[in-house]
Amino acid sequence: MRKAAEISPKLLQWYDANARELPWRVPPNEPRRANPYHVWLSEIMLQQTTVTAVKPYFEAFTTRWPDVAALAAAKDEDVLAAWAGLGYYARARNLLKCARVVAVCGFPKDEAGLLALPGVGPYTAAAIAAIAYGASAVVVDGNIERVMARLFNEREALPAVKPKLKKRAAALTPQKRAGDHAQALMDLGATICIPKAPRCAGCPLQANCAAYNAGVAAELPKRLAKKPKPTRRGIAYFAQRVDGHVLLETRPPRGLLGGMLGLVGSEWAEDAPAFDPPFAANWQKYSGEITHVFTHFNLILTLYVAQVKAANPRAGSFQPAPAPSSLPSIMRKAYEAGFLICSIECGAELSNSGKKQEQNDR
Ligand code: SF4
Repeated sequence: MRKAAEISPKLLQWYDANARELPWRVPPNEPRRANPYHVWLSEIMLQQTTVTAVKPYFEAFTTRWPDVAALAAAKDEDVLAAWAGLGYYARARNLLKCARVVAVCGFPKDEAGLLALPGVGPYTAAAIAAIAYGASAVVVDGNIERVMARLFNEREALPAVKPKLKKRAAALTPQKRAGDHAQALMDLGATICIPKAPRCAGCPLQANCAAYNAGVAAELPKRLAKKPKPTRRGIAYFAQRVDGHVLLETRPPRGLLGGMLGLVGSEWAEDAPAFDPPFAANWQKYSGEITHVFTHFNLILTLYVAQVKAANPRAGSFQPAPAPSSLPSIMRKAYEAGFLICSIECGAELSNSGKKQEQNDR
């Protein structure tokens, strides 16, 4: 392999001509630096989420809350509703905590200060320091790990090889244009050095790439086999009152989907929970299942639907029907299915309610 010192200049030259246009980014070689609010917000949104998914959320957030002071002053429920659909809701809660610190103290300019902010980990701290402040910080995410593993033909499996990959990335990080260098690596990993079939023919670093030269690029990085995800089951209850209000509850502030609005339901457990609705009614069981994949488990929800004239639920409250986009993905799926069933079946059930006894599908 040719010298590692060649890599960053080649990469920057490629980036100058091929940088992706992203709404939070300043194009290469423009004298101004990126806005730290934009870098921070985009990096938090991009954790575990794709650029395509993040773009509309970033545009919506920066239109509604154009700076960190505006975001800090926002109501928690408004920010959580605007975040709905992006997943990993602890990020939204930390985003608000962080905005409220930064609105008072400003963004720290060094990695250590950034790392002390709520919800900011080593990757995000390094990315803000490099991209917004030009610090020679070592930015390493999954894309950059993949590029390092291939450039240096590191055969040890992830996650054990991570420290080595970080050292490799540090050795390549230049003193000048460290932010562009990091963004160039991100772009290379996203567009050329992609996971399954790297496009080595169009890669500016082909001559420097040990894995390419060894013919093993597509095999790297190696990973330990993942354990299969467990499956949990739960029940969700969609209830609609004749005035159109829907039974909803705000989940506890901590834990999965913490603080988010959702349907009333059971715990999620490996054993299927018992049918235990929030009030007695003619509950109709949805014939399908609502499924969702979380990081550590798969979830299957059974949905029950009822339409009522009045009810006194022991959990949640009847509220004006929210926009589905204000609900987290799993709740949105259940809510939309409930609405559909209600519109098809429950109206008829309700009109016959004098003839039918309330039933529970136990
Ligand atoms: Fe990745 Fe191929 Fe470029 Fe090596 S030559 S860095 S494997 S795209």
